[in-house]
Amino acid sequence: MKKTRLLAATLLVMLFTMLNAACAFANTTLNGHLDSIEGNAVAGWLWDSTNPEVSQMITVTVTDKATGEIVCTETKEANEYRADLESADIGTGNYGFHVGIEWDTLPESSYTVSLSCGEVTLPQTLSYSTSTEVAHNNLIPLGTFKTTAYCPCYQCSEGWGRQTSSGALATADYTVAVDKRVIPMGTKLLINGKEYVAQDVGGGVKGNHIDIYFNTHSETREHGVRNAEVFIIQS
Ligand SMILES: [Zn+2]
Repeated sequence: MKKTRLLAATLLVMLFTMLNAACAFANTTLNGHLDSIEGNAVAGWLWDSTNPEVSQMITVTVTDKATGEIVCTETKEANEYRADLESADIGTGNYGFHVGIEWDTLPESSYTVSLSCGEVTLPQTLSYSTSTEVAHNNLIPLGTFKTTAYCPCYQCSEGWGRQTSSGALATADYTVAVDKRVIPMGTKLLINGKEYVAQDVGGGVKGNHIDIYFNTHSETREHGVRNAEVFIIQS
């Protein structure tokens, strides 16, 4: 009798261990994003929705696209407060990070920047080229555009937040709003040496006018109204 109980208990423990292992393997509660590379700083955020009070240790990995060699890994706690995350109902918003990458010390090449946490690597990556020349042979000049800036605040987004007209969530250093009669949705654009994608429209965005998405309202104020030469990037 005692032996049977012991066996049952052992089986239960084994089952539990297996279930726990399965959960850890299929961990889908981690979510995050690599937002941008500005100078030597790679910015992004990451959180675990089942552990919103705990900040996660993230690792940013830089891989040489040509050789596949990992040239740099930096680990840091993702605990910077970001109002845009909190307003997007992402926990407390304390999940931002900036990681320094010394690009100058790396050989001239194109790199993939990826984000991971423990065993989990996010599918989204960023590209960075250490050569200063933008390697685009297929640029179509569209002329001079007025550029303005918007953010997910109520005033800028008319209550839409990060939701764009194309269905995608607006992403800083990526999303712009355009007049669809001038630039079709999904078009890749080069503005001041940076690549963007036409993902949104806006009531006030007419003709040669591009509205650039930023995370915060202070950045939109800093941008103000400018003029820029705009190119279509043909792929
Ligand atoms: Zn705003």
